[in-house]
Amino acid sequence: MFNKRIKIKELLQQEPAAQQVTVMGWVRTFRNNQFIALNDGSTNTNLQVVATLGMFEESLLKRITTSASLKITGTVVPSVGKGQKLEVKAETIEILGDSDAEAYPLQPKKHSLEFLREKAHLRFRTNTFGSVFRVRHALAFAVHKFFNEKGFVYLHTPIITASDAEGAGEMFRVTTLPFEDTPRNDDGSINFKEDFFGKSTNLTVSGQLEGELGATAFGEIYTFGPTFRAENSNTARHLAEFWMIEPEMAFYDLEDNANLAEAFIKYIIRYVLENNREDLDFLAQRLADEEKQLPQDKRSEMGLIEKLEFVLNNDFQRLSYTEAIDILRESNYNKKKKFQYPVTGWGMDLQSEHERYLVEKHFKKPVILMNYPASIKAFYMRINEDGKTVAAMDILAPGIGEIVGGSQREERLDVLLEKMEKMGIPEEELWWYLDTRRFGTVPHAGFGLGFERMIQFVTGMSNIRDVIAFPRTPKSAEF
Ligand code: ATP
Ligand code: MN
Repeated sequence: MFNKRIKIKELLQQEPAAQQVTVMGWVRTFRNNQFIALNDGSTNTNLQVVATLGMFEESLLKRITTSASLKITGTVVPSVGKGQKLEVKAETIEILGDSDAEAYPLQPKKHSLEFLREKAHLRFRTNTFGSVFRVRHALAFAVHKFFNEKGFVYLHTPIITASDAEGAGEMFRVTTLPFEDTPRNDDGSINFKEDFFGKSTNLTVSGQLEGELGATAFGEIYTFGPTFRAENSNTARHLAEFWMIEPEMAFYDLEDNANLAEAFIKYIIRYVLENNREDLDFLAQRLADEEKQLPQDKRSEMGLIEKLEFVLNNDFQRLSYTEAIDILRESNYNKKKKFQYPVTGWGMDLQSEHERYLVEKHFKKPVILMNYPASIKAFYMRINEDGKTVAAMDILAPGIGEIVGGSQREERLDVLLEKMEKMGIPEEELWWYLDTRRFGTVPHAGFGLGFERMIQFVTGMSNIRDVIAFPRTPKSAEF
């Protein structure tokens, strides 16, 4: 049998003193022809393996190079050296795969995140990315755990959609039509009847509309899948392909929706604090080191762990869009013209600099902004009594800006139809969506959490490209 290994994380936890074990992994460093630092991805802590002098052929020792893969059997003994409690005294060392140290792109030293982005196929083998992706995994697991415990149904909504009515962002077209001699209608437009699906299709920007169909049968559902936006925004918080979690709940109003979102965010943060402390401590130290390079006024007031605990222990600040505009307009920042986009007044869309001012300078905690002007929000949001605002809710996080966008949905058929007509959204395309309002409509609400932005918040990684395995951004789809 090949795999009777113990993972390094387990070995370090169980401390099976004097027992014989088999470990497998990749060499991080090899010192003095004797000490192998072995890593198998289960933890950042390397296992020290000792190859006693004289016990192994010189030809074998030469092949123990950085990132070579090894199978080692040996005995667990207390370590005499500093830095580790125990080590493995090797009895057999088998080279599973050689690694040419000269050609291997990563050296046992600190590399910049930019450099590692170009080596994304190997960056999982660094401590930073080891920690980030173990935390990403744990957050994904916690997402399912949270909704499962609440009795939500995990609904897999389609990735290819024919509705482009949603308006959440620019879409990527899905087609099998040829680029040359593309079939055309008499008026010169492309004849999508000849296309694979017999109509024009795109990659989804959101699973919400289909999610609402699920919610109006199961009561509570969530989606968790990839979404795509062809927006040409080369920022540190936008990807062309990102993962989104979208719960959708029947019998919820805006306040219920906000309560669920806050509880959800706190739950997944608590889960990683309890289960991934070693990785979070590593990332906290990494962030602290990175911030030392920054001028004093650009540094965070709290360390990473402190920030996460603060979020757990404090209520999110809730306020209306209208109150937010007043705060922004009256702020010294605005009066001193420090905003790139001046705060002109009620009705304007908030820029990310405004959101970050509210969260980072004014309230210094996560903010739930509610009841936005109808004119800047999507057609499906429920119109409030005042006739000019909708029951929308965005959650803004320190250092990130918007992480959640949600709303109570318009469940009144006549109001919805009128709104769609005003906004130029074709009724024929959404007949199936409108049917939920025809057959047993109910008050309902939902939101979308951008998974990568959440991971950024939890890990302290400032660029979204560093929290997804293989980022898709304008002009970049390597790997
Ligand atoms: P933004 O204004 O920041 O572009 P948005 O208003 O387009 O966001 P929504 O359409 O409400 O965002 O999407 C819901 C959530 O999905 C956002 O709150 C955010 O967390 C995430 N999100 C949106 N666009 C992107 C993107 N391009 N890359 C990564 N995450 C995104
Ligand atoms: Mn956007």
